[in-house]
Amino acid sequence: MDLTVISTFRCNSRCQMCYIWKNPTDPRQEVSIETLAKLPGGFDNLNVSGGEPTLRRDLAEIIDVVYPKARITEISSNGLHPEKILPIIKKYPNVKVRFSLEGDEITSDRIRGEEGGFQTKVAGLRMLQEAGGTDLGFAFVIQDENVDQLTRTYEFAKRQGFELATSTLHNAWQFYKNDNYFYDRLKVARDVEGIVTEMLKSGKVKNWFRAYLNLGLIEKILGHDRLIPCTAGRDFAFIDPWSDVWACNVRSDLPMGNLAKQSWEEIIGSKSTCDTLGKVDACKQNCWMVTTARTAMRSTIIPQAPKIGPMMWVLKNKLKVSMGGKINFDDYIDYSSVKPTPRVERISFLDNRPKVKLDKERHTPDERYPLKEFENT
Ligand code: SF4
Repeated sequence: MDLTVISTFRCNSRCQMCYIWKNPTDPRQEVSIETLAKLPGGFDNLNVSGGEPTLRRDLAEIIDVVYPKARITEISSNGLHPEKILPIIKKYPNVKVRFSLEGDEITSDRIRGEEGGFQTKVAGLRMLQEAGGTDLGFAFVIQDENVDQLTRTYEFAKRQGFELATSTLHNAWQFYKNDNYFYDRLKVARDVEGIVTEMLKSGKVKNWFRAYLNLGLIEKILGHDRLIPCTAGRDFAFIDPWSDVWACNVRSDLPMGNLAKQSWEEIIGSKSTCDTLGKVDACKQNCWMVTTARTAMRSTIIPQAPKIGPMMWVLKNKLKVSMGGKINFDDYIDYSSVKPTPRVERISFLDNRPKVKLDKERHTPDERYPLKEFENT
C-alpha cells in the first residue's frame, strides 16, 4: 500500500491551481511524530507531503520515524528550502525527493507565485545531488499555461540526471479547489503526446511506464474514463494534517479513521473504511494522479510488477519507437470525444502575494473542508 502523509497545510508558495496556502494549519494541531510512529511497517511508497513539508520543524524526525516503514520514502516539496532536506539526504541518500517545477523560470514562478523559485529549486536539487541523493526529480502539473514546455522540461531534468513526475489539474479537498478546469482540453491533450514518445525512447524502464501514466493523463484531460479502475483505500490512503485517514485526497466523503485516536489495524478494519470502500467501487470520478495511477497499474499478484494491460502497451510501443516508428495516439484515444469545460480563469499570485490568516475554528472535517463537490470528469 502507498501512503501520503499531508504533514501540514502551511505553504510558502502561492500556486494558482492549489489553494492549500489559503488554509494553513495550526502547527500545534498537525499530525505528530508519536502518531506517525503508530504506523505499521511494509508500506511501498510513503510520501511526506503538504502543504510544504519543509515548514515542519520536525521534518527530519518525521523521516526518521517513517523511513523504516516503507520501501520508498518520498518528500514532495516546493523546493524553496532545499537546505532543510540536505541533512536528510546526507543520512538517507535514497530518499526520493520531488521539487515542484512548472516549466521555465518565468512560467514556473508565475504559476506557483514564487519569486526566484525556479533558481532556488534547480540549485537546490543540484546541491542534493552533490550530497549523494540518488532519486531526485521535479514534479510538473500540466495545465494550459505550461503544457508547451512539458517535453522541454523533461529534457532539462534528464540532462542533469533528474526525474520528471507529471500530473495534471484536479479538483480535490487536498487542494481546496473545485474550479480547476482546462481552457482547451484538446490542445493540452495533444501537447502531452510528445513526452509519451520521449519517455518511451528512454533507456529507463521506469520512464516507459511513466509514458503509460501520461497516456492516462491524456484521457483525464479529455474527460474520458480512467484507463484502470481506482483502488483508493485498498492500495493507497492519505493522512491529513489533523491525523484523519482518507481513502483518497479528492472526495471528502471517504473517511477511514483517525490515526491519533485509533490504531492502524482498527482503521483498516473499521465500518467507516468498509463503507468508504463501497463508495470507491462506485466512484464515477476519473482522477489520474501519480498515486491513484501508479497503484492501479500494479499487478495484484506481484505488486512490484505492472498489470498485463499497461505492460503490453509499453512493450508494443517501446518496440515501435525503438524501430523509428511513431505511436498512433488515435488508435488508443478517442479525440473526437472531448468533454465540455467551463472557462474559469486561474489567477497568478506572483505580483500579489496575499497574507493568510490561521483559522483556529476548524474542529470537524466538515469545517475543515467546506467545499463538497469536486468534479474530475
Ligand atoms: S476515482 Fe474516486 S475514489 Fe479514486 S481517487 Fe478519484 S475520487 Fe477518489
